[in-house]
Amino acid sequence: MQISNCGYGLVKQLVSQKKEVNLKQCFKSILQDLLCDRFDAYFFSKKCCHVKAQIEFEFTVHASGVLQLEESNTSLNLFKSALQELPEHIKLLKHPSRVFFFAKTDIQPLGGLIVVNKVNNTDAIALSDNEEGLILHLLEVYFLQLKLLHSSAVDPLSQLLNRQSFEQQLTGIIQSESYLQTKKVRSESRWFLAMLDIDHFKKVNDNFGHVIGDEVIVLVSQLLKSHFRFDDLLFRYGGEEFAILFSTESAELAWKLLDRARELVANTRFPQVNHVTMSVGFIQVSADFQLSELVDNADKALYFSKDNGRNQVTNYQQLNIEPHVISDCDIELF
Ligand code: GH3
Ligand code: MG
Ligand code: MG
Repeated sequence: MQISNCGYGLVKQLVSQKKEVNLKQCFKSILQDLLCDRFDAYFFSKKCCHVKAQIEFEFTVHASGVLQLEESNTSLNLFKSALQELPEHIKLLKHPSRVFFFAKTDIQPLGGLIVVNKVNNTDAIALSDNEEGLILHLLEVYFLQLKLLHSSAVDPLSQLLNRQSFEQQLTGIIQSESYLQTKKVRSESRWFLAMLDIDHFKKVNDNFGHVIGDEVIVLVSQLLKSHFRFDDLLFRYGGEEFAILFSTESAELAWKLLDRARELVANTRFPQVNHVTMSVGFIQVSADFQLSELVDNADKALYFSKDNGRNQVTNYQQLNIEPHVISDCDIELF
């Protein structure tokens, strides 16, 4: 497809997408239509996924934030750190055979696009100025729309994801677990749901007031964000309660990861309040449970931590709670 119009219709397509997954799909197909008969386009987003499966270059970043290309294998981590270094806003970087488009917000890199001549990587790239301008514009619209969709999913105080997005994300994870289960596919890593609650938080409010209480919530959120991986999902579930959806290889590793988060909070000195602790309960996500059961069970593990002295992590599966089997006497006939 030749790029001849000003892209109004394409922009309209992007801004009419109301779900992140649809927006990504729409952007991908626009890129494919625009470029793919002449170029390969490698698109990276937050999770470093790309339109094409292969990436074939590696680069380093100089203090000026300019990328320099090296002819060797690509490392996604280097790409990520390169994005971290770039100045704020969408940027176009040229190389004789490649064009780079990058975007980032004030908080984190959002992604980038690399366009490579399909015929011969060493040939000069033949994107016209109009084409470059249009791609840059579409990228900008794409990221603005993404930001808009994100902001409706984020809790304003903690900047973590909100309760509404928790239900959507957990439903999606349960569905994918159920799919893997029916296909009998065994994945290396498993999803876990953790519920975390600040201990004796009422006392913080009573002794120092709500504003300081809010500051504690913000600081705990930042500590959790710094501790967990980029791809883990952190939510403010309610007042001083948090939920985390993360994947790791085993329940032992999940416990260790959560215990280190607990320790990090316990060892941090909070302004005025000094020390706060958290209690944690967690459960492995499985398609055998419904969403509400998973939350209830993770909560049971959390209450176990509370009842046993707080400032600790409990795995629901180690509570040895008998599964509730419906017996005759449970059934009311009339
Ligand atoms: P426990 O160790 O059993 O969790 O005790 P707790 O005092 O933390 O628990 P409780 O549920 O009794 O109290 C939670 C308090 O959290 C009550 C409420 O005033 C406070 N809270 C809830 N949301 C917010 C908020 O957004 N900001 C502030 N400052 N306080 C909040
Ligand atoms: Mg509490
Ligand atoms: Mg609570």
